[in-house]
Amino acid sequence: MSRIYDRVALIGLGLIASSLYWAIKRDGLAGEVVGYARSSETRETAREIGLCDTVYQSAAEAVEGADLVVLCVPVGAMESVAREIAPALKQGATVTDVGSVKRAVIDAVAPHLPSGVHFVPSHPLAGTEHSGPRSGFAELFEKRWFLIVPVQGSDAAAVDKIEALWQGIGSNTARMDPDHHDLVLAVTSHAPHLIAYTMVGVADDLGRVTDSEVINYSAAGFRDFTRIAASDPTMWRDVFLNNKDATLEILGRFTEELFALQRAIRTGDGEMLHDYFTRTRAIRRGIIEAGQDTDAPDFGRVKS
Ligand code: NAP
Repeated sequence: MSRIYDRVALIGLGLIASSLYWAIKRDGLAGEVVGYARSSETRETAREIGLCDTVYQSAAEAVEGADLVVLCVPVGAMESVAREIAPALKQGATVTDVGSVKRAVIDAVAPHLPSGVHFVPSHPLAGTEHSGPRSGFAELFEKRWFLIVPVQGSDAAAVDKIEALWQGIGSNTARMDPDHHDLVLAVTSHAPHLIAYTMVGVADDLGRVTDSEVINYSAAGFRDFTRIAASDPTMWRDVFLNNKDATLEILGRFTEELFALQRAIRTGDGEMLHDYFTRTRAIRRGIIEAGQDTDAPDFGRVKS
């Protein structure tokens, strides 16, 4: 694969940035990949594990001379970072972000970027419940969708170039409008996370009564909720605060469906429950057929 950018700057060195680093380097897609992290602890870890060609103490220093800048910080931190790097950005550079919410990030970042700098927001639909500089791996993006959410007036060549980078690290790409993105993600990611947090919270309350039972006998359903609910608290706080309307809309619909199922259980309407679960099973099949998950039993978990 040939080089797409000469110098890439990763701002924030957690799961997504470290995965990007390993993938871009593996595929030789950039000449140099530098980074910045806020805490000295993360910077030291990055240097220790060889994450980034150079690790800088400030975001402004890191973006100097970069032709691509990738903002990999929580959604709520995007604005302050954009403000800090703006004066140091090279003319003609592209700025992207990997935030899980798009409208709020665009509103927070775009006003700070100087003219002559291209802003092409993105979002990889790839992640794990782990965070920090040690959690990344080059394969994270393989066969996953990397959504590109161009803003009004985004330069077509800049959009094509970033699309080539995301495809270069193995992702499928698609372009989407920001509001549509936020609604789709509320359904596929944000509301499910909130439901997992809630279910684990309920079990935690119960756990005070039957402590070890909740842990020892955690069946597949609950275990999968706990994995999702172990995701980074800062990231997810910011997602909900910044995708408020779409998440509330989907949670409203969720509550209606829950009431309908609750009623079917109470009235013994087995037909309704069976039809419902048949429909949901088809969705799972669709996801597997689209190559977005494996059909190994119990999510491919290794049996001990
Ligand atoms: P992460 O592993 O928790 O890393 C976040 C990084 O941002 C860390 O380097 C952290 O610095 C830095 N940071 C946090 N607050 C900051 C602030 N106020 N100012 C400057 N830097 C700050 O997070 P991640 O999972 O890579 O997520 C990064 C972005 O990707 C988020 O916007 C998230 O919505 C998006 N995303 C995440 C996933 C996922 O599954 N995790 C998937 C797709 C998109 P320190 O280490 O110094 O604290």
